[in-house]
Amino acid sequence: TTTLRLILGDQLNPLHSWFSEARADVVYVLMEVRQETDYVHHHAQKIIAIFAAMRALARQLEGEGHRVHYLRIDDPANLQAIPANIDALLAHYGATRFEYQEPDEYRLDLQLADYAARLPVPGTMVGSEHFLTARDEAERIFAGRAQWLMEYFYRQMRLVHGVLVEKGGKPAGGQWNFDHDNRKPWRGAPPEPFDARVQHDHSALWDSIEATGVDSFGRPDAARIVWPQDRAEALVHLDAFIQHGLPHFGDYQDAMHTSAPRLFHSMLSFALNTKMLHPREVIAEAEDAWRAGHAPLHAVEGFIRQILGWREYVRGVYWANMPGYGEHNVFGHTTPLPSWFWDGKTKMRCMRHAIGQSLDDAHAHHIQRLMIIGNFSLLAGLEPNQVHQWYLGVYVDAFEWVEMPNTIGMSQFADGGLLATKPYVSSAAYIDRMSDYCKGCHYDKKARLGETACPFNALYWDFFERNAQRLSGNQRLGMVYRNLFKMDDAARAACGEQAAALRARLGEL
Ligand code: FAD
Ligand code: SF4
Repeated sequence: TTTLRLILGDQLNPLHSWFSEARADVVYVLMEVRQETDYVHHHAQKIIAIFAAMRALARQLEGEGHRVHYLRIDDPANLQAIPANIDALLAHYGATRFEYQEPDEYRLDLQLADYAARLPVPGTMVGSEHFLTARDEAERIFAGRAQWLMEYFYRQMRLVHGVLVEKGGKPAGGQWNFDHDNRKPWRGAPPEPFDARVQHDHSALWDSIEATGVDSFGRPDAARIVWPQDRAEALVHLDAFIQHGLPHFGDYQDAMHTSAPRLFHSMLSFALNTKMLHPREVIAEAEDAWRAGHAPLHAVEGFIRQILGWREYVRGVYWANMPGYGEHNVFGHTTPLPSWFWDGKTKMRCMRHAIGQSLDDAHAHHIQRLMIIGNFSLLAGLEPNQVHQWYLGVYVDAFEWVEMPNTIGMSQFADGGLLATKPYVSSAAYIDRMSDYCKGCHYDKKARLGETACPFNALYWDFFERNAQRLSGNQRLGMVYRNLFKMDDAARAACGEQAAALRARLGEL
């Protein structure tokens, strides 16, 4: 009897217990399918990087003596959908069992559960052995509480997993959170960390993807793909980050700069989300670096919070609110994305850089995603679900369980505050403080009104004006509303008119 075990494109963990012994009665199946390339409009590099890493895992498993059936995108036997391919392979191998790992996306979870339920042979789901929390753990932690709060969840995780805690459950350094130390702008020094990533030429793979008619956007850059292909490469990159990037991660976590697309971010999200790396080992390496005196606590705590806190937390938000989370739209925003989301051609220098970088590299760092692109989208009133589709397509690390809560919840506040405690928006003043974008911009960062006034300014005040009923009672926005209510009526009305005019010609900005 033969068992078929399905490995999805974001389940590339060679240390999964499935692989602890090579068995003649198990066939591992990996497939490149149109079902997965086409569920959203994807950046070319995302498709290339995932397929390349799937191929690398298949080679590794075969090398270790496992039986592997790999369906390439251009294989004539490929039926381009997961259930149809599994049906065909079950028949081909006369298999009597089907197994798959817990999918992280609701869409696939539903599809595979339905499929397994109607199979004539047993179909079983096993754990992916990746996350530190179960799908419903956050929901259990917050049961009976009025408000979900990342910080509360994160402290629980620190204690449960014994991360950065001292005897008696005290936080290392006497504080749980050092965010206040992590807000420096970057002015050209220190230099960006050494980039240990290997470049791969995946031109042949890209040609075969294109030949099958897969539609994509963004710069393919197929001859120089830098996203890790396997765990070994990911580990080298992790070490290089701990060595060269982590010590400065905290200071410049919120900084942005036109000449430093990466700054001190780890660029580990692709390796983490495809499960080449386990969050536990990334967290442990960071904590060790602090204990060895190599990186300061505020940097290490800030970095660990992203992985042990935010990453696990948003996953909990996702599972607690699916299906339907992507449909939230509390502000009733309906404006479609301007065309320059697809080519970066806007006169707003901050948006040109953040979107341009996303289109070139399939990556932008957190503050660009949150405080430039997301900020503008919310202020301009873009439809949250369209914004979500763009983010899901453009970033190499975008998988719905992590992308959707970040976009719909954290960035667009479309869920009315299920995930975040306030909308993350700003006028030009914040962007100017944290970046060099405003210098040399077509728009005037100081002006609120007129042809060349920075669009963020009027849109910002108008956003709070329009939503005063919903937001003015929010304690975290007290200062914003005090400032708005200090402005005279004529200035407030002029802001509203300017914002309406801007919203009417977003495509020309
Ligand atoms: P670093 O800054 O080095 O952070 C280290 C790690 O922490 C990341 O690799 C990531 O695994 C984790 N992390 C950091 N912030 C978050 C967060 N807010 N939520 C979950 N994990 C986090 N991250 C994704 O992995 N996939 C996405 O599709 C995604 N979409 C986003 C959309 C929006 C609108 C926003 C505001 C953020 C999004 N993020 C997403 C979170 C974050 O921006 C990326 O994880 C990060 O930029 C990846 O680059 P890095 O590995 O260099 O991260
Ligand atoms: Fe962006 Fe406004 Fe600054 Fe230009 S002036 S870079 S549009 S914030």
